[in-house]
Order: sequence, then C-alpha cells, then structure tokens
Amino acid sequence: MSLHPLPQILERIQKAAQQAGRDPSSVNLLAVTKGHSALEIEQRVLAFGDFALGEAKGQELRDKKPLLPAQTQWHFIGPLQRNKVKYLEGVSLIHTLENLEVAQELLRFREKWATLPQVLIQVHNGETQKHGVELAQVPEFLQQLQDLGLEVRGLMVMAPRLEEGQNPEPIRHVFRQTASLAAKLDLLELSMGMSDDFEWAILEGATIVRIGGAIFS
Ligand SMILES: *Cc1c(COP(=O)(O)O)cnc(C)c1O
Repeated sequence: MSLHPLPQILERIQKAAQQAGRDPSSVNLLAVTKGHSALEIEQRVLAFGDFALGEAKGQELRDKKPLLPAQTQWHFIGPLQRNKVKYLEGVSLIHTLENLEVAQELLRFREKWATLPQVLIQVHNGETQKHGVELAQVPEFLQQLQDLGLEVRGLMVMAPRLEEGQNPEPIRHVFRQTASLAAKLDLLELSMGMSDDFEWAILEGATIVRIGGAIFS
C-alpha cells in the first residue's frame, strides 16, 4: 500500500459512481478514524481535504474531537447505548440509531447542545448480526423517531464481510434491499460500504461510504 492511500480511494469512489451512471459528487467519503491518533488523522485524511470523520466509541470521540480542527464534521458509527449518548455533543450524524430509548435520551440534550445530531436508522442485514432494526420494523420505527421530532436522513447497513474472491451477490443483495427500502420511505442518505465492499455499495446507491482500514493501511 502507498503511504497515502486516500487519493486513490477517492479515485475508486469516483470510478464506481461513474460505472453506476451516478454523479460522483453524490457519494461522500466518511473517513473512519477509530483507533487512530489526531496526528495520523491529520496526515492521512485532513491533509487531503475536510473529510467528515467517523468514530465508533463515545469516549474516544469526546477525547479526540478537541485535538482536531473545529470545523471538522464528526459522525458516530458505533453501537450506541443510552449512557453513551452524552459523549456525542457536536456530532452531525449518528449512523446507528436502532432503539427508541436511545432516541429519547438524545432528545434530553435538545436544549443543552447547540444542535442535535441528525440520524440514520441502522438496518439489520439478515445475517447473524446483533445490531439493526429488522427491515419490516423500519417504517414503524421511522414514524416513532419522526414523532419525537428527530431528523431522520436515511438508512445504514453493514453487509456481512466479503472474503477475497467470494461471490459478491449476497452482499449486493443486502445493499440493494436497503436501498429499495430507503427509496420507498423517501429517505435520501444511504450509509453502506466499507474498505472491502464500497464499490459494490456505490453500485447499489450508497451516498456515504465508511472507510477506515484502506485509508490507514
Ligand atoms: C470500523 C467500521 C468501518 C470501517 O471499516 P473498514 O473495513 O476498516 O473500512 C465502517 N463502519 C463501521 C460501522 C465500523 O465500525
């Protein structure tokens, strides 16, 4: 791997978008920075532009945020428990909302924080995975979140891991069915695709790809 993989990743994103007949500007890179220091993030990510950064742990996000430029956009992509919501001040988008208790906890910060994060609903991928709302339950959960006054921007899914040389069809199916549900619900953002499968996700309509390993390898 080259010392600075990010520009190549941007090229791959652009190519996949063109292949899908999509405007490349409709796909945004979220640089997943969990486990990496502020210095590494400056060198590997922010040296190439103001990319949004994704963290998966509340405390890690809280500790890292003050070390990076104030205009940085932060997304939260980890499993979210009620008692960790308090660490998400200043986050612009939560990708992993999957239960009502967490949503209600979030609302408790409405007066305290300058802005409340917008949210994506994490959808279950149909495999043996702990997280995510079952597809059939998503419309009702969306309604509940909207009734609470939360701004739901879209859906997020994690596909089962794609092994090298494996047929991507089962993974494409997960992306496709998530995209089709989002379209049915008039939700515009689709957070799907990681280092090993982002090109497939873009072909199926991803608007945000969450890439960590490939940037820092
Ligand atoms: C870590 C993580 C990623 C990034 O995965 P890579 O394979 O390193 O690109 C994406 N999404 C979520 C939810 C993650 O926890």
